[in-house]
Amino acid sequence: MPDGVIYLDGNSLGPLSRAARDRLREVVDSEWGQGLIGSWTEANWINLPARVGGKVAGLIGAEPQEVITCDSTSITLFKLLAAARALRPGRRVLLTDAGNFPTDTYIAESVADISPEAIELRQVRADAIIEAIDDETAVVSLTHVNYRTGAVYDMAAVTKSAHARGALVLWDLSHSAGALPVDLGACDADMAVGCGYKYLNGGPGAPAWAFAASRLHPNLAQPLTGWMGHQAPFEFSGRYEPAAGMRQMLTGTPPVLALSSLDASLDDVVDAGMDRLRTKSVALCELFIRQVEARCAGQGLALASPRDAVHRGSQVSFRHEDGFAVIRALLESKVIGDFRAPDIMRFGFAPLYTRFVDVWDAAEKLAEVLESGTWRDPRFSVRGAVT
Ligand SMILES: *Cc1c(COP(=O)(O)O)cnc(C)c1O
Repeated sequence: MPDGVIYLDGNSLGPLSRAARDRLREVVDSEWGQGLIGSWTEANWINLPARVGGKVAGLIGAEPQEVITCDSTSITLFKLLAAARALRPGRRVLLTDAGNFPTDTYIAESVADISPEAIELRQVRADAIIEAIDDETAVVSLTHVNYRTGAVYDMAAVTKSAHARGALVLWDLSHSAGALPVDLGACDADMAVGCGYKYLNGGPGAPAWAFAASRLHPNLAQPLTGWMGHQAPFEFSGRYEPAAGMRQMLTGTPPVLALSSLDASLDDVVDAGMDRLRTKSVALCELFIRQVEARCAGQGLALASPRDAVHRGSQVSFRHEDGFAVIRALLESKVIGDFRAPDIMRFGFAPLYTRFVDVWDAAEKLAEVLESGTWRDPRFSVRGAVT
């Protein structure tokens, strides 16, 4: 971590690990630099999407052959959601919650738009999802941990209700994988997607991963059919024949540099183990809530995350009318959190590298910013392109 920085934004972009840096150097200097095109086989680049997928599988309760990594979360979500919809012909509703991450909603809209059948995207409140699932529901598409508040869905309960009505569920685990234990197998989950650059630390733009339960593989069909998803890409056949299993989820050439750093950074998460990481994550979040509420009372903060850790991911969010300016002022004290419109100050506690002393100091610095009112300086209200 850069000197003096308290990094509470690993839920947005995980930091650079030694493992990822060393691996990138090796891939650049040796595999690409010296091995050139031969590295597709010599360095086994061609199997990176499946190999990295297999590593992710261990973190989410999936079988290795049920996960593959390749494109961004948005594109992967598009492919999976379209594939899920196609598995439920005749049903005309895609269901999501109104607070879902924007890309998830936009992608669901495009899946509905290009569907050969008339499909409606229905958005309801998160607490009304289960009762909104009916016999018209093709797919329920939800983000497991809400990006604003950190509120967690009961994956087993939602999945069970959906299955009882004949619907499929697609979980976005962008704020779950590497943050809290997930057991897709035990929940009998259908499909899932998740981000590679948040709690998995794969680096900016690292690819996402896709999960589909083995029982769905024989009938899986996704719309972005490219040569890498062909059963024999190097026969250069004029006719598309999908590869078996998750390999057909691939479209184009895998991003080898980004996949390599993700491959290396995943080892740290796997070695630490999700149960130990979760125990620490809960303790970090509880300490932060306790410290902030004790030190910042009367300063206009309201806890936006569930108070009960069972219902909370690995982040703590507070609402504040001028949350944007407060977060910017806090940056000057080298505490990096982020802001999510309209009024959420978001603090991610990635348990792999966040220390208890960081939590203690961050709460102290937040109290200083609020008490001194430094955030009122107009320069803290100037918004950049990325918040
Ligand atoms: C971070 C995040 C994404 C990111 O999508 P990209 O296509 O990788 O930019 C998507 N969905 C959710 C819920 C996220 O938290």
